[in-house]
Amino acid sequence: MVAHERWRRIAVVPACILVVAALSAGSVVRPGTDPTPGPSDGSFSVAVRGARSQVIPLSALPLSCAPGSVVHSVDTGGAKLVAFGFDDGPWPYTTTAIMSAFEQRGARATFFMIGVHLLKYPDIGRSVAARGHEIGNHTVTHPYTAKTILPQIVPAAQLIASVTGVTPRLFRAPGLLSNAELQNGLATLGYCNIFASIFTGDAATWRPSAATICGRFKAGLRPGAIVLAHDGGGRHETTAAAVPCMLDAAIRSGYRIVTISELLASAAR
Ligand SMILES: [Zn+2]
Repeated sequence: MVAHERWRRIAVVPACILVVAALSAGSVVRPGTDPTPGPSDGSFSVAVRGARSQVIPLSALPLSCAPGSVVHSVDTGGAKLVAFGFDDGPWPYTTTAIMSAFEQRGARATFFMIGVHLLKYPDIGRSVAARGHEIGNHTVTHPYTAKTILPQIVPAAQLIASVTGVTPRLFRAPGLLSNAELQNGLATLGYCNIFASIFTGDAATWRPSAATICGRFKAGLRPGAIVLAHDGGGRHETTAAAVPCMLDAAIRSGYRIVTISELLASAAR
């Protein structure tokens, strides 16, 4: 099956889908879901209550990266564009605070969501879509090997589509994993693997200050840069606090802030 046929299938999944993933039993038992024990292999199903009945088809934007490739940054031909990717949400407070900071500057971000967090905070996930930000796929439970990541990619896409109405076109591997097995699997699914060129280091357990995060951003800012930061998976108040500083620094330097799909689409030809 070619990639676009797979995507069409994902885009037309019914509203109350069954997400079947090879997960450890109990890991996605969350309010608002109906977990159903699966076969003895440890998998089980999750029926999403309150899911939107209308699943929006694919973004009008073409996916401008080669399936199976790893994208660190984009050659914009010198055009001053930068894109931000926030991982591991949706999450209370930080996701909304980050969105507001972007919107106050007329900008949009890309949020790579984890399925179990979307099940826990579906309203926040829906608001990300409703407010015009981009949603990417970051698996269902954030595993760290190709063998465990690959079976979660389509279920995560289906879950995101069902809850938010948006089918994610972008994927970022947990832990920025990249190896032949994962990349070959991604190529089959029609995904590239969105890495980054500016690493804020905000997932460190000691949580760097907002000033440190912003300083790392300013030091790494180049045309076509992609930022790695976190809105979820724990408290990330310093990241949220650093966002206005990062955005204002980029704007002062003449950059336009775009989503990662927009950045990919702007690649010099
Ligand atoms: Zn992550």
